[in-house]
Amino acid sequence: MNIEINNIDRKLLMDRSSPGRIGATLPPLDVPKQKLPPNNYLRDNIDLPELSESELVRYFSKLSQFNFSIDHNFYPLGSCTMKYNPKINDEIASMKGLSNLHPLQDESTIQGALKLMFELQESLCEITGMDNISLAPMAGADGELAGMLMTKAYHLSNKNPQRKKILIPDSAHGTNPASAAMAGFEVITLPSDPKGNADIEALKSSVDETLAGLMITLPSTLGLFDTNILDVCKIVHNAGGIVYGDGANLNSLLGRVKLGELGFDIIHSNLHKTFTQPHGGGGPGAGPVIIKKFLSDYLPSPIVKYNQKTNYYSLYSPINTIGKMGAFHGNFGALVRAYSYIKTLGGSGINQISQNAVINANYIRTQLKDYFTLPFDRTCMHEVVLSAKDYKQKYNISALDIAKRLIDYGIHPPTMYFPLIIDEALLIEPTETESKDTLDYFIEVMKTISKEAKDNPELLHNAPHNTPNTRVDEALAARNPNLRWTSSNI
Ligand SMILES: *Cc1c(COP(=O)(O)O)cnc(C)c1O
Repeated sequence: MNIEINNIDRKLLMDRSSPGRIGATLPPLDVPKQKLPPNNYLRDNIDLPELSESELVRYFSKLSQFNFSIDHNFYPLGSCTMKYNPKINDEIASMKGLSNLHPLQDESTIQGALKLMFELQESLCEITGMDNISLAPMAGADGELAGMLMTKAYHLSNKNPQRKKILIPDSAHGTNPASAAMAGFEVITLPSDPKGNADIEALKSSVDETLAGLMITLPSTLGLFDTNILDVCKIVHNAGGIVYGDGANLNSLLGRVKLGELGFDIIHSNLHKTFTQPHGGGGPGAGPVIIKKFLSDYLPSPIVKYNQKTNYYSLYSPINTIGKMGAFHGNFGALVRAYSYIKTLGGSGINQISQNAVINANYIRTQLKDYFTLPFDRTCMHEVVLSAKDYKQKYNISALDIAKRLIDYGIHPPTMYFPLIIDEALLIEPTETESKDTLDYFIEVMKTISKEAKDNPELLHNAPHNTPNTRVDEALAARNPNLRWTSSNI
């Protein structure tokens, strides 16, 4: 018998099978016994595993722990981080009165759901300092696309078809240029200045009568608040452009800064980042598009309105709507979670988020800046970008090696090689909910890895060592994916 000492039992379900073992007990038959179909329709050679109930439970429970998860480990991803996902929001979203609704039900029978959507619309406008909103977009990038299509519709209805150019700083999220291009705009990249802000001189020389607008991520993907933002908005407005703000991650601004008051005309926020909603594996999400009044007629439909006199909620479609961003009313489950999150935290709870998010990221920044290159040595927002370029040069240790080694210490790797403008980038977002103990553990681990890089680089090149799968060939996996499981894969 093989005795496993590393606690990772790789045996497959089939290999655990023992003939005659049964894991289920059926209740006594309470219907008349039926005759089986003729023998030539029946198979008796199906290779199914035979296991006891507890063997089966252990197998699947262990399998579930092979995944890194926010419920098991610190997860300082950066940019697309899952922030705070209290379980109560899932419970509320699965209440039958909400989860069993059918999207084709008559309005009069879903007044509660519409009221929830209406109040969420109001809360998000209030939090962001904007006037109007559509909850329809089902992801951040979907919200961006909606905003770009609205920008296009606005210029066309003002007889400005020549406005085809969207300016996007090089510190923007990658979805920004993709969304602008999908809406048919020409994308012009703006450089960042040495402090990490949008370069004002470059902006001034890029605006003209062909400008449709500017898309800026705030805070930027460098984790920085662009201190030129008021000037940026002014320059774009004076040239007749629309200012679009990517507010996917608003954690550092909540209750402190309202994007609407800075001068933004259109923004989106990711409910699946800033406002709860677990989003592992790419979904589900919601990216409401939130706007100033003068753009209301172009919003994607449907929008919920409330008639105070009749105390009745209904859906409507604005007169010049860009149309629908998806089926029905948006991603309702995500909307319920965000509503529950905002109501649970209340005004003071929401404000606390930004304070903690910023303090946590800056604590990591100050503790690690002597160990890793800090491309922008200034106060950061909810995340901090470090660079491993010195390790690359001196020890041939890449950001990837460091990220993989973190897994051995039970920490999810941060976002790597993004933002693109930083060599060997490690983008770290601790989130507002982590304790000082957790942050101190992470800092100690990063210092230990820094030492390992110098003393024992091979250890990092081959990391991770303690996981069911060790270093995988990610390029091969991406180019030649083999998604069909067979036992011979193992
Ligand atoms: C995640 C993210 C997006 C894209 O959101 P999706 O829901 O993944 O489409 C856009 N901008 C920023 C800054 C982000 O962090």
